[in-house]
Amino acid sequence: MVKAIITLVFLLFSLNSYAYRIVHLKSFSILSLTQTVDNVIFTFDKIDKYRFIMLSNDYWYIAVPGKIMSITTPLIPKGNIRRILVRIIKGETRIFFKMDSGYKYRFHIVLSRNRHFLIVRVEKQNRIKIHKAFATNRKKTTKTRVSKIPVVVVDPGHGGKDPGALGLFGLKEKNITLSIGKYVAYFLRRDGYRVYMTRTGDTYPTLADRVRLANRVKADVFVSIHVNYTPRDRLRVKGLEVYFVNTTSDKRALRLAARENGMSLSQISDLNKIILSLIQSTKIEYSKKLASDIYRYMLLYGKQVYKSYTGKGVRQAPFYVLVGTRCPSVLVETAFINNPSDAIFLRNDRFRRTLARGIAKGVELFLRKTKISVAEPLDKNLKS
Ligand SMILES: [Zn+2]
Repeated sequence: MVKAIITLVFLLFSLNSYAYRIVHLKSFSILSLTQTVDNVIFTFDKIDKYRFIMLSNDYWYIAVPGKIMSITTPLIPKGNIRRILVRIIKGETRIFFKMDSGYKYRFHIVLSRNRHFLIVRVEKQNRIKIHKAFATNRKKTTKTRVSKIPVVVVDPGHGGKDPGALGLFGLKEKNITLSIGKYVAYFLRRDGYRVYMTRTGDTYPTLADRVRLANRVKADVFVSIHVNYTPRDRLRVKGLEVYFVNTTSDKRALRLAARENGMSLSQISDLNKIILSLIQSTKIEYSKKLASDIYRYMLLYGKQVYKSYTGKGVRQAPFYVLVGTRCPSVLVETAFINNPSDAIFLRNDRFRRTLARGIAKGVELFLRKTKISVAEPLDKNLKS
C-alpha cells in the first residue's frame, strides 16, 4: 500500500513537472503609450511564475520556467526597445531586452489574475550623466505639492492636419472641440481652478503629447472633447455620450475608440483585452463618477438651448488618451456632427458655450465631492 502511494505521488509529480515544461507564448506586442513609456505585453497560455532580471541599466530579461514551445507572433522591437533575444538557458526561457542606451529605466510588472497576461511597463527616466563628479546619486526629493488648487487638463480633440470627423455645413470636429475647450477653460479658470489645454490653436499634438502634458502637470482631472459621427442612419443617431476608460464588448464603442485612437480594430481589441491590467480599478471607478457628473450637467444645460438635445448615456471604451493619464479621465462626445439637428446646434456658438458650462460644472462638482488629494495621484500602480 505504501509503495502504491509512493508510486502515485511520483506519477503526479512527474506529470506536474511535465506540464510545467511547456509554455506557449501566444502573442507578443509592445504598446507605447508615450514616447517614454512602453508596455511589453506577453500573452501566455498560462504561466505559474516568472523572474525579472536587470543585467545593467538598459538590459533586462524575463525568465519563464520551461521551454516556450511556440511563439505565434514575431518579437519585433519598438519604442525605446532596440533588440529582443530569446534563449533557453538552464531549462528556462529567457527573453532579453536591450533598451535605448544612456538612460535609466523604471519598471513595473503585472501578471494578470488569470496568469495569461504578463505586462512589463518600462518608463524611460533621465539620461545618465557622464560627468561623474556631478552624478552624486542625488535622490529626487519627493515633491509634495504646495498649492491645493486642483489642476484640470482640457483636451480639444484632433487639430492641425487631423480635422477629426467631417460633418454637415462644412463642420470640422477639430474646430468645434477647440471652441468648446476654450470655453471650458474659461469657466474653470474663472472659478479658481488651474487649467492647462493640450492645444489652444489649430495645432496637432499627438495623443502621446496630450497624455504627457496631463501627467507632467499632475492633473487631477482630464477631459478630452470630441464630436461624434455615425456612418449610418444619420437622421436618427444623435446626442451626447460621455466615456470613461474600461474594456467593452460593445462593437460600436470599439469602432469609435479605434477611430479616435487612430488604431486598427485589431490593435484596439488588444488594448481592450489588457486594459484592466494597465489601469488601477480606482481610476476606473473615479472616472466613471466624473463621467456621470459631466454627463448630467451637459444634458441639463444643453437642453436649455437645444430643446431636443438627447443623451445616449455614460459609456466605456478603451480610448488611448484615457489609458495613459494617471488621473480620473473622460472623453466627451458632444453630439453627432453629421446628424442634421445636432449639426445645426454644433454650429451655434451659444450652444457650444452652454455645453462647456455643463462640462465645467460637472468637473467642479466631481472635484468638490471627491476632494482629491492633489499630492497623491490615484493611479499609484502606474507611477511606481
Ligand atoms: Zn474625435
